[in-house]
Amino acid sequence: MHPDLAQILVDEQAIHERLEALGAQIENSYRAHGVEELTVIAITNGAILFAADLVRRLKNIYVRLDTVRVSSYKDEDKPVSEPEIVDNIRLDISDAHVLLIDDIMDTGQTLERLVNVIKKSRPASLKTCVLLNKIGRRQTSMDADFAGFDIPDQFVVGYGLDFAERYRNLPYIGVLRPELQNPPMWM
Ligand code: 5GP
Ligand code: MG
Repeated sequence: MHPDLAQILVDEQAIHERLEALGAQIENSYRAHGVEELTVIAITNGAILFAADLVRRLKNIYVRLDTVRVSSYKDEDKPVSEPEIVDNIRLDISDAHVLLIDDIMDTGQTLERLVNVIKKSRPASLKTCVLLNKIGRRQTSMDADFAGFDIPDQFVVGYGLDFAERYRNLPYIGVLRPELQNPPMWM
């Protein structure tokens, strides 16, 4: 375990076992509705490891892949009405079946706001998928259509999730040691 962590919450093997099932669930749910092609949009940087591993489990459906980078509104003093898209997708998503992927759903605001923006491009369908679902933290009616793990309200890093841009490379998900956390940077 990395010395900056207090504990490992989800180990490498658990992640990969869950991804296998999640990939099958996603594939089956689309194919059951006759969908042959999926457009995956991963929110960078946090979701890129998860998305990269998940799309490799989608073997029986065509997959298009794109990314979107959103400004971190949590760093702002004042709330913003929509997430500022710093780097938008390049694919045309009108009439496409879009699956929006993020690392973690906490309050739900990031995904809710991004969903509202993407809807304006009139996709055929729009669903959301997160690796981690922080239960009891939701501030919106938003819920992910697909989720990997429910986790308690602890600040986690690893497998894409960062603290001050560090730890994204860890192959597991762990809780950062409290004395290393700096809540104003992410609350
Ligand atoms: P929401 O908008 O749902 O409140 O927050 C989603 C975003 O908050 C995530 O994309 C992530 O950047 C950040 N976030 C929320 N909880 C955590 C956490 O425990 N660890 C890390 N590293 N980021 C988090
Ligand atoms: Mg993020």
